[in-house]
Amino acid sequence: MEGITDSALYKNTVRTMETAGRFIKLSPSCIERLRTPRRALIVSVPVRMDDDSIKVFPGYRVQHNQTLGPFKGGIRYHESVTLSEVAALASLMTYKNSLLGLPLGGAKGGVQVDPSTISIKENEALTRKFTSEISPFIGPDRDIPAPDVGTSSQTMAWMLDQYSTESGFSQTGVVTGKPVEIGGSAGRDAATGLGVVYTIEKALAARDKKIANTTIAIQGFGKVGLHAAIEAHALGAKIVAVSDVSNALYQPEGLNVPELVQYYNQNRKLTGYHGGKIISNDELLALDVDVLAPCALDGTINSHNVDAIKANIIVEGANGPVTANANEILTAKNIMIVPDILANGGGVVVSYFEWVQDISWLFWDEQNVRERLRTIMYRSFDKVHEFSTQNSVDMRTAAMAVALHRLEGAMRLRGQIW
Ligand code: GLU
Repeated sequence: MEGITDSALYKNTVRTMETAGRFIKLSPSCIERLRTPRRALIVSVPVRMDDDSIKVFPGYRVQHNQTLGPFKGGIRYHESVTLSEVAALASLMTYKNSLLGLPLGGAKGGVQVDPSTISIKENEALTRKFTSEISPFIGPDRDIPAPDVGTSSQTMAWMLDQYSTESGFSQTGVVTGKPVEIGGSAGRDAATGLGVVYTIEKALAARDKKIANTTIAIQGFGKVGLHAAIEAHALGAKIVAVSDVSNALYQPEGLNVPELVQYYNQNRKLTGYHGGKIISNDELLALDVDVLAPCALDGTINSHNVDAIKANIIVEGANGPVTANANEILTAKNIMIVPDILANGGGVVVSYFEWVQDISWLFWDEQNVRERLRTIMYRSFDKVHEFSTQNSVDMRTAAMAVALHRLEGAMRLRGQIW
């Protein structure tokens, strides 16, 4: 499929799928079907800008696989979004949802735009137009978007409103990750970060350690990294470094996370906060810590910087932060890498809870959401870790193998493969 397979992330994802597939002797017809998405939509998103000029942004929604249930996955607003990157992320959603045992398929969407350069009014117009363009293909029973990099609960509120206006009645189940006032779930905001922390706890336990007093460096202080820092700090971990797009903050004794979060919420940047020393993002990645959690974008740990990595455990809060080459090198050094489809699964788990609550019109309290999330994260980690130790393969191959195994069974039952 032209344009789909170009990106490094796509190639890396297919490579991981094929490696795990060969390992579990996956049917060749299954590998062949999973190599490309089921449907890819390219749209133009024209926006009347505040100065009355018009700008047209490219937008995408890629639906990879719906064997296990409706398509599900986030919408990303970032200047580097491409069709191929969105396709790779859509396939990662298929594997993530399968691994976590959710009744959902995999999709992803995105618009090539730097959201920090447009006004709120322009952002709303862009979101509404994008929603209109993809609306024939989404819906509570078909494909359910959610936030991702550069989008938020407000983006979802606009999507919900636009979709509902066009269909003539309120459709709360069309998106997840929306504000609680309009059908969102308690605990969805913190869900991905919380899932990362549950995974960190399990990874440490697998190496006979506890989270209290362990040192953690978190790259990225957005929706994932920020909440991971809050939750890990609350459990007694020392968050020695965090970073945003410009630079990183380092405090060997552990940052005062509640104070830092307050500062960040007021200033939207880490620079200027006095409780730590400024270091570069590269220096953060090379810190000698128990756990390194890359929670920003893909390709962060790659052939160029892999030799500098000193952490014992890497937990992928972002999608695809460790490239396939770096994964091989680090695994050979006995560094445990907990892959994205497991580590950052907390977001889509609570999205699933939100969708269920919307369909049943019955809402749960936050404690209930957190407990159910923890059960799924712990169980999924155990499955992957058990496969990894029993078969002497790395955690990435193991996670993919567990995901593919469930998917293959379902595809076979439905007569899609043989
Ligand atoms: N964007 C998140 C992810 O990559 C959440 C997806 C969802 O909730 O559907 O997992």
